[in-house]
Amino acid sequence: MKYPFYFLFIDLICKINYDKYNWCENIIIGGGCVKKRLFSVALMIVLLFNACGKNPEATEPTITEPTTAYFQREVCSKYARKDYIPFENSSWLREFKPEFVMIHFTSAVMLDPDNPYDPELNKSIFTDNEIGINYIIDREGKILCYLPENRAAWHAGEGEYNGESRLTNRMNMYSIGIELLAIGSESDMQQYLTSSEYYSLDSENYGYTEAQYEALKLLVDDICQRHNIPVDRFHIIGHQEYSPEKSDPGELFDWSRVVPEESVTDGN
Ligand SMILES: [Zn+2]
Repeated sequence: MKYPFYFLFIDLICKINYDKYNWCENIIIGGGCVKKRLFSVALMIVLLFNACGKNPEATEPTITEPTTAYFQREVCSKYARKDYIPFENSSWLREFKPEFVMIHFTSAVMLDPDNPYDPELNKSIFTDNEIGINYIIDREGKILCYLPENRAAWHAGEGEYNGESRLTNRMNMYSIGIELLAIGSESDMQQYLTSSEYYSLDSENYGYTEAQYEALKLLVDDICQRHNIPVDRFHIIGHQEYSPEKSDPGELFDWSRVVPEESVTDGN
C-alpha cells in the first residue's frame, strides 16, 4: 500500500518544481532561473530512479498471486450476464492459462423435486457449500457468469486426466467450468435419487433443452477462441472423465452439439 503514496509524493515534488520553473520564467528572466530548472529536472530523475528500486511489492512476492495482467482482468463471456457469487470460498485467482473447458450438470432436485431449476435455490447450492463455477446455463439458455474467467472456480474436485500429473487434483486451475441446469438419466442420478424418486419427476426436467445446447455452443466457441483452446473432445471434457465417481454431464448429453462430430469419441 506504500507504493501509490510514493508516486503521489513524486508527483507533488514534480508539480512544485514545475510551478517554480513557470514562476521564475515569468517573473525573473536570468541565469538563476536556468539553474533552478536544471535542479528540478535532476531531482525528478533521482526520485524516479529511487522509486523504481524500492517497489515494496517486488520484495514481497506471494506464490499464489498471478504475475501477469492476463490473470487480473475479470472477464466474462459477452454472451453471459454477470451474477457473481462471493469470490472467496468458491475460487482462487487463476495461476495458469485455462487449457480445458469442463461441462457439468447441476440442479436442486434433492432440495425441491418439484422445482429443481429454481434460480435462487440453485445459486444457494454454490454460496452455501464452498463450491464454484464460472458459468451456469439455465433451461431457457440464459448464461450467467458466477465467477469471471480469471478465477479458478472450485468445480472439478479430485481427479486425473490424460495421465498428466500436473492436472491431478488441480483441474480447477486449468479449466473453465460450465454447469447446465439438468437432470441426467436414471443411472446418472442413482447416487442422488431412488428409482421411484427419479420417475416421480416431471419428465420435462430430464436431459437438456435445445436452448441450452445453442447457448452452450456459443459460450464454448467464445471461450475457446479467446483462450486459444481447440474445440475438440480432448479439450472440452465432462466432469465424469476427470472424476470417475461423477456422472455428469451423463449419458443424455449430446456431445456432437458442442464439438465437431469427428472429435466425438466412443463411450462418453
Ligand atoms: Zn460436475
